[in-house]
Amino acid sequence: MSRNSYNRRKMKLKRLFGIRGRLVLLALILVVPLMLERARSLEDARAKQIAATSREYKALADHTVDTQRQVISSVEAVLKSSSYIYALGSEVSQPCMVMRASFRVDLPWIRSLSVVDRTGRIQCSTLPGITGIDLNDRMYLRKALVSRSLVLSDYVFSRATHQPTIMAAYPLKTAGHERSGAVIVAAVNLRWMSSVMNDLGGRPGVTALLIDSNGVVLAAPDDLASTLAHPLADKTLLPAIVAHEAASGAQSGSFIHRPVNDGKRTVSFARLPGSNARLVVSIDEAMVSAGINREIRLAYIQLAFVCLLVLLGALLVVEGLIMRPIQILAGIAQKLGRGERDVRAARHELPTEFMPLARAFNTMAAQLTTRESELLASNNRLSVIATIDTVSGLANRRGFQSRLDFEWHKADQTATELALLMVDVDHFKLYNDNYGHLEGDACLARLGETLAGIAARTTGFAARYGGEEFCVLLPDTDTARAMEIGEMIRDAVRGLAIPHRASAAQNVTLSVGVAVTRPNPTMQADDLIEAADAALYAAKAAGRDCVIPHGRHEPPAARVSLAG
Ligand code: GH3
Ligand code: MG
Ligand code: MG
Repeated sequence: MSRNSYNRRKMKLKRLFGIRGRLVLLALILVVPLMLERARSLEDARAKQIAATSREYKALADHTVDTQRQVISSVEAVLKSSSYIYALGSEVSQPCMVMRASFRVDLPWIRSLSVVDRTGRIQCSTLPGITGIDLNDRMYLRKALVSRSLVLSDYVFSRATHQPTIMAAYPLKTAGHERSGAVIVAAVNLRWMSSVMNDLGGRPGVTALLIDSNGVVLAAPDDLASTLAHPLADKTLLPAIVAHEAASGAQSGSFIHRPVNDGKRTVSFARLPGSNARLVVSIDEAMVSAGINREIRLAYIQLAFVCLLVLLGALLVVEGLIMRPIQILAGIAQKLGRGERDVRAARHELPTEFMPLARAFNTMAAQLTTRESELLASNNRLSVIATIDTVSGLANRRGFQSRLDFEWHKADQTATELALLMVDVDHFKLYNDNYGHLEGDACLARLGETLAGIAARTTGFAARYGGEEFCVLLPDTDTARAMEIGEMIRDAVRGLAIPHRASAAQNVTLSVGVAVTRPNPTMQADDLIEAADAALYAAKAAGRDCVIPHGRHEPPAARVSLAG
C-alpha cells in the first residue's frame, strides 16, 4: 500500500469518526441498551402472557370440570333417590306413578327419567308415551348393570325425544329390584351442559369442548355451538389425549400439541368421573399471543422511531452547537484572510461555550486591523522615502521615473506638450575639490530647494537625476515657456551667489538642456530624456551657464570654461 493511499484511508477513517460520527455513536450507546432491554421485557411479557392464559384456562377448565362433575353427582343423586322412590312405589304397586309424581321439574340438567326393565324396554318414564321403547342395544345399560354404579353414555340420539343427548344410567338397587336387572336412566340436558361452559368461550384462539369417547362434541360454549354433535375437527387430538393419559396414568393433564399444518397448541384435558367424556381446552398460542405480538411490533416501531429521533436530535445538536459555530468562525477567519478587517463574530449566533473563541477572534481581528494600518503607514513612509533624495530634498531618480511615466501617459491622453529640463552644476568636481564633499552636499541641498520653489511656481516637478544633475518635468509646456523656466532657474541659482572660486563666474552656475515633445504611442519617454541630455551636452559645449533647447547646437561661446 502506497503512502498516499494509506493517508487517504486514514483521512476517511478520521471523517467517519469525526464529531458527528462520535456523537451518533454516543447516542446509539445510550439508546441501544434501552431498546434491547425493552425488547427483552416485551418478549418476556409475551411468554408470561401465554403462560398466564394457559394457567387461566387450566383453572377455568378445572372449574368447569368441577361444575360438570357436580352436575353428574347431582344426576347420580337424582337417579339414586328416584330409584328409591320407585322401590317405595312398588310396595304400593304404583311405582311409576309415584316416581313421576316425585320427579323434580326444576332440575335443568335432566330432561327425563325412565326405568328400563331387564328386557331393555322402557317400563316407566316421566315423558308420556314412550313406554315400551326398546333400548336393549344401548351399551350403557349393560355397563350400568355390570359396574353397579353410575354410567354415562356417549353421544346418542334419543329414541324417545329424537334429540341428541347423553344418558346417565344407574341400576335399581333397592331390595325388591336388585336382581331384576332394571336400570333407571336420565336424559341429560346437553344444552345446559353447554351453558356451564360459557365462561370458557368468546376468546379467540381458545376452544373448550366436552367430547365423548369417540371425540363427538357433547357440549360447547355458545360461540362454538356449531361444533355440537360433530366429531372433533382435529382428528389427531383425541388419540393424542388418549396417548397422554396412557403415558401419565392420570385422567387429566396438559401437553403441547402440534396438529399437522397447524400451529402450536397447549391442550388441557380432564375426564368426567364415571364416563368417557372429557373436557378439552385447546389454546392456539399464535392466536392468543396475536395481541401481544401486535403490541411487540408496535413497540419495535416505536423504538425504531425513538432511535431515529435520538439520532436526528444528536445530529441537529452537533450541527447547531458545534458544526455551525465552527463554520461561522471558519468563515470569519476566511474573511479576515481575504482582508475584510471589519468582520466580527456576532455573539447571538454562537453558543456560550464558543464565546471565548469568538472574543479571541474579534481581538485578533482588531489587532490585525491596527497592525495592517500601521504596516500600510510604514509602507507608505518607506515608499515615499524610497523616492526622495535625502541630500537635495527632491524626488530621486526612481521618483522622477514614475512621475515621468505618469506625465507622459497624461500628455499622450490629452495631446499636450511635455517639456523636460536637464540641469547640471558646472564644474562641481572642482567645487568639491575646493570646498570639500560636505560643502558640496550643502550646495546640492540649496540648489534642490531653489528648484523645488520654481517647480512649485510653474506646476512642474523637480528631481535629482543623479550626482550633481537635476531635472524639471513641465507638463503642458511649450519650448518657449520651457526656455523661460530654464532661464528662471539659471537666474535663481546665480541669485544664490554660492561662491565657487574655481569657476569663471566665481559663483556656482548651472547648464540647462531643454527638450519638448508631444508624446504619442510611437515614442518612448526615454527619447525625451535623451533629447534633454543632448541639449544639456550642447549647453556644456556652448560654454556652460546657459539654457539650450534640443536641436540647437550653438558654437562654444567666448566664455571660457576653467574646466575646459
Ligand atoms: P561639468 O561642468 O562638465 O559638469 O564638470 P563637473 O565637474 O561638474 O562634472 P564631472 O562629471 O567631472 O564631476 C561631477 C562631480 O560631482 C564629481 C563628483 O565628485 C561630484 N558629485 C556627484 N555627486 C555628489 C554628491 O552627492 N555630493 C557631492 N559633494 N559631490 C558629488
Ligand atoms: Mg554631470
Ligand atoms: Mg557638472
